[in-house]
Amino acid sequence: EADLRVRKNARPPVHINPPVDDELQLDADLRWAANNGEIVAAYQPQIDLASGRTVGVEALARWNHPKHGAISPAQFIPLAEANGTIVQIGRAMLAHACRDAAAWLRSGHRLVTSVNVSAVQLELDYCVPYVRALLEEFSLPPELLTIEITESGAVRDLSDAQDQLRALRNLGVGISIDDFGTGFSSLTQLNMLPVTELKIDMSFVQGIDGGGHHIVAGVVGFARGLELEVVAEGVETDRQLEVLRELGCDRGQGYLWSRPTDFQGVCVFLGDEL
Ligand code: C2E
Ligand code: CA
Ligand code: CA
Ligand code: CA
Repeated sequence: EADLRVRKNARPPVHINPPVDDELQLDADLRWAANNGEIVAAYQPQIDLASGRTVGVEALARWNHPKHGAISPAQFIPLAEANGTIVQIGRAMLAHACRDAAAWLRSGHRLVTSVNVSAVQLELDYCVPYVRALLEEFSLPPELLTIEITESGAVRDLSDAQDQLRALRNLGVGISIDDFGTGFSSLTQLNMLPVTELKIDMSFVQGIDGGGHHIVAGVVGFARGLELEVVAEGVETDRQLEVLRELGCDRGQGYLWSRPTDFQGVCVFLGDEL
């Protein structure tokens, strides 16, 4: 049973990238970690730009390594995809997200929780039945879960993942294309996929400061035309926020509001000092 009480001195997970020179040891450690609950979820709030309200969170994997501290997913997700532990990690992230989204809902917050799923994970074919079971287990309305499709070095396009994405969409969950405008998220693919949301890559958002808002404007206009939600990530400055608002971007996410934090940190952010 999830518990919304906040420890007064709860601290968000520290996020560092230690130099890990022993690759074999890291591989073994990751196998252990994936099977023993060391992979946890940090959450970063998503703000509705028109109302200023927190309407969602993105779940980001954190490995709390007993010796090295918190290791970044940029470091361990590629390793997990290579050694197969991505299956357990993917399951753990989906389970954390559904359990926590259901707990927020019970405390009166309808937050849409986004979970990152790489193309490699979709090809491994475990997501659909697992998501279905979790929605049922936690009585989570499917519209409160979004699957964020992230790029993966090992997969060049999403054609093999089409059926899985369609099955996920048929469960009622949202489908978001992460880092839109970079990598494999081509317009041709978009047309074939059951997408509900585009996420503007932070490189474009941060380009606003140099006067380059045209790509962001283009993606927002494009999303509007296709009736997709559009989220800007990596929002750090008031200037970026101002431009995103003017352009009519739906939601923002970034250090301007909050770094990724833990379950209780989100409760504090929501103003729920229970
Ligand atoms: P992403 O999905 O594009 O996630 C956004 C990254 O930007 C996160 O890094 C987040 O902490 C960081 N970020 C958020 N706001 C800001 C900001 O305002 N400024 C800056 N400079 N950075 C910001 P993180 O947590 O290190 O994740 C890195 C990547 O690892 C993610 O990129 C995602 O592709 C991948 N990842 C994370 N969790 C998972 C997971 O559970 N499964 C899979 N397959 N991939 C994951
Ligand atoms: Ca993401
Ligand atoms: Ca992204
Ligand atoms: Ca990214």
